[in-house]
Amino acid sequence: MAIDLISRKAWGARSPRGSHTRLDSTKGVKVHYTGGRVDPRIVDEHDRCTALVRSIQNSHMDGNGWIDIGYSFVACPHKKVFEGRGLNRLPAANGSGLNRGHYAVLGLVGNAGLLEPPDGMLHAILDAIDHTRQNGRAGDEIKGHRDGYATDCPGGPLYAWVRRGAPRPDGGGNGTPEPPGAPPFPGRLLKYPPVTRGDDVRTWQAKMAEREWEIDVDGAYGPQSRDVCRRFQRQQKIDDDGVVGPVTWRRTWEAPQG
Ligand SMILES: [Zn+2]
Ligand SMILES: [Zn+2]
Repeated sequence: MAIDLISRKAWGARSPRGSHTRLDSTKGVKVHYTGGRVDPRIVDEHDRCTALVRSIQNSHMDGNGWIDIGYSFVACPHKKVFEGRGLNRLPAANGSGLNRGHYAVLGLVGNAGLLEPPDGMLHAILDAIDHTRQNGRAGDEIKGHRDGYATDCPGGPLYAWVRRGAPRPDGGGNGTPEPPGAPPFPGRLLKYPPVTRGDDVRTWQAKMAEREWEIDVDGAYGPQSRDVCRRFQRQQKIDDDGVVGPVTWRRTWEAPQG
């Protein structure tokens, strides 16, 4: 599948403080983690991923004194890839002397909080890697930051995955397995107010209509959708907040029809 790339403009990146150094090609990619605590709630709300990426850029520019975020790309649990420095630009995250060799791709897990990369994040890391190979003259290597540098980065779970050859998850496996038939969670909460609009809303409404709920399939999550959602949540004996999050989304496809 095509990469779901979030441009610097779209995530609100600051302008670099100087010019990037040109990088013509690399041997491949090094995989990183944040090294700090990652709030597990990013899994429920993609907006939190965006806020985290901005804060990482701030700390690299204001704390480390770098001209920009140090990573080439950042992968989040929602199978989305944030453009960091991007293609053909020297990263800063691999350590002195090691940045010409590899692009730097960060997975948003840490050494506390969110430890295990969800499948969506592994897909996103691989999408970023494919992107560097196809468009940024990256070679085949997939390594961890700790390869050739004294660090525990990218942490146990991500490093174990790298050592296994960085396989693409098949939907099962660890992390957040999707039940058969459930499309991937859209990565944002469907809620009201204000009205949430989009194809993800339409997809959810269509499935609810198929389950014989009285609901307009119009792609607009307003009071009617919220009320249907609440009644469905009560039926499912889950928190009836009237918001379609990952649990409600999954149940919409997974729950036996009563
Ligand atoms: Zn690292
Ligand atoms: Zn995200």
